[in-house]
Parts: sequence; C-alpha cells; structure tokens
Amino acid sequence: MEQTRTEKAKILIVDDEKINIDVLIGLLKPHYHIVVAKDGEQALRRLEKRPLPDLVLLDVMMPGMDGYEVCRAIKANVVTQAIPVIFVTAKNDERDEARGFEAGAVDYIPKPFSPLIAMARVKTHIELKRRGDMLEKLAVMDGLTGIANRRRFDEFLDYEWERSVRYGHDFSLILMDIDFFKFYNDTYGHAEGDDCLKRVATAVADAMPRTVDLAARYGGEEFACILPETDEEGARVVADRILDNVRTLMIPHEKSQAADHVTLSLGIATAKAPISEERTLDLVELADTALYSAKQSGRNRIAVHNKSSAQAVHNKSSAQGSA
Ligand code: GH3
Ligand code: MG
Ligand code: MG
Repeated sequence: MEQTRTEKAKILIVDDEKINIDVLIGLLKPHYHIVVAKDGEQALRRLEKRPLPDLVLLDVMMPGMDGYEVCRAIKANVVTQAIPVIFVTAKNDERDEARGFEAGAVDYIPKPFSPLIAMARVKTHIELKRRGDMLEKLAVMDGLTGIANRRRFDEFLDYEWERSVRYGHDFSLILMDIDFFKFYNDTYGHAEGDDCLKRVATAVADAMPRTVDLAARYGGEEFACILPETDEEGARVVADRILDNVRTLMIPHEKSQAADHVTLSLGIATAKAPISEERTLDLVELADTALYSAKQSGRNRIAVHNKSSAQAVHNKSSAQGSA
C-alpha cells in the first residue's frame, strides 16, 4: 500500500544455502529490490519491517522452521497475509507441491529452474499483487478528494479504539463541516464546489503529519480526523492547524455569513483512557454535538464537548455493561 507503482517491487528471498540465493539474486536483481533471509526466523523478523515485500520466494527445507511453517505464519498474520509466497525447492514430489499450496503458497518453482520460467512467474505474481494493492487502496479512498473514505474511517475507528482500550490511551476525534457550503455551490457551481472540497481535504490532511492519525471524508462536505493516543490538548492543536490551513487557502465565498472566504466548523471529543464498555458511537455523537455548538455560536471555530456529558455517557455505558 505504501509503495507507488513506479518503485521497484521488493522480493524477500528465504534460503539457507548461499549458492541458491546467489543464483536468484543474479536473475532478479536487475529488475527488483532484493532482501535476503537465511532461515525462517530471520524471514519473519524481516516481515516486521516496512515497506513489506511484494513477494516471498521461499525454500522448503531449512534448519529450524521449514518453509511450510514460515508460509503458514505469513498467512496467519493479517499484516502479511496478502503477500504472495512462491516455494522454490528441489522437493518436487506431487505431495510436497500440494502441501505448499495448503500452506498458502500461490505458486511453486521446482529446482533446478529455468530462468525464463522463474522470471515469468515472479513477474506475474508481482503484477497481481500490485493490482490487488491498488484495488484495496481504491476501496478505502474517497474518489473525489483522495483522502480516506467513510468505510476506511469506520474500520480505522474501531481498530484504533480497541487499541486505546487495551493500552489505556486517550483517544480523540474531530468532526468538521464546511460553513454555508450550499450557498457556495449555488454561487459558484457544483464543479467549483467539488474543487473546493478537494482543496479543503488536502488542507485537513496536511494538518496531520503523524502517520497514526487518519483524515477522512465523512460525508458530503464533512470531514473527520481520528487521533489515537491524543488528549484534548493535542486534538485542539490539530484542530487549530486545520482552521489555519483552510484560512490560508483563502477560497473566496461571498455568500458566507461567517467570513469572506471558505471556513470550517469543528467539534472535538476526547475519550480519556476509554474502557471496553464505552462505544465509538458515543464519541462520534459527542463530537457531533460539539460541532453543532460550533455552528450555533457563529461557525468558523472549534468547540470541545463538555466533560459532564462525556461523564454521563461513560456512566450510562458502564451501567449497561454491568447490567
Ligand atoms: P452549514 O454552515 O450549516 O453547514 O451550512 P451548509 O450550507 O454547509 O449545510 P447544508 O448541509 O445545508 O449543505 C451542504 C451542501 O454540501 C449541500 C450539498 O449540495 C453540498 N455537497 C455535499 N456533497 C457535495 C459534493 O460532493 N460536491 C459538491 N459540489 N457539493 C456537495
Ligand atoms: Mg453538512
Ligand atoms: Mg456545511
């Protein structure tokens, strides 16, 4: 996902014999970025590092973990399971081959191999992997603005929320909505409106340099930021930066009653060390209430949910949890 199509694809070669590694490197090095592991344990450690490889070429017989075990471990981990694994091995008995596929391999290259055939198989599987990556990216990306879509927002919110519950981290959410955007469309036309949404989305995303944060298009002219491991203070800093970035765009909006340019209203909600009985939906509601009060009190500003209502939700959820 983090690689662009123009970068060389990365291949992890796992083999305990230097001669095999050298042959594969000689063949593949001109076209691919190669990383090597001498046994299964080292291979799995390499797979903890980013960027992940696009393909694994895996020997079957190795001291320690054998290739089948390594393959099963790769396929059992959600982070690595999409990486295609090809077995490269002298064990070319029909049953061995079947065992490789059962372990989750996509293909099998028997040794000794024909360089042309090996290259063709590697190329095919890398192309398929990259096409899959692209589709996956498109499925979670908003088509107009290029930032995360609502589906990604929902997934990310649940995933990061669980992590915050587990580690006792504060968790913040910002919901925002462009002010008087209907008037903007009415005045400048829908195409200009779309263009404005793109520029605002970029301004929002640029205000969040941390890779653990997520900026998403929440709805039509609404955006959202998920800020894991972030307290209310931290969320205010991000919200201020978003407000600044959008102001800096200075997109003229003559029909806005908030300013002479396009502005946003923002609502912040923070869950302090959330517990498992609390729900993400409550946090979204709190941020939405804060956003509403930012709108009510004049727009082009930030509002933070008030603590007593957060406490009320907290208590209500705990009561439900223990009932
Ligand atoms: P408020 O300050 O209260 O938020 O006023 P508003 O006019 O922004 O709110 P309202 O919800 O009435 O209008 C939202 C507008 O956003 C209406 C809709 O046409 C526009 N909109 C939603 N999605 C898109 C889009 O994808 N492209 C364009 N151009 N406009 C959109
Ligand atoms: Mg709206
Ligand atoms: Mg609006």
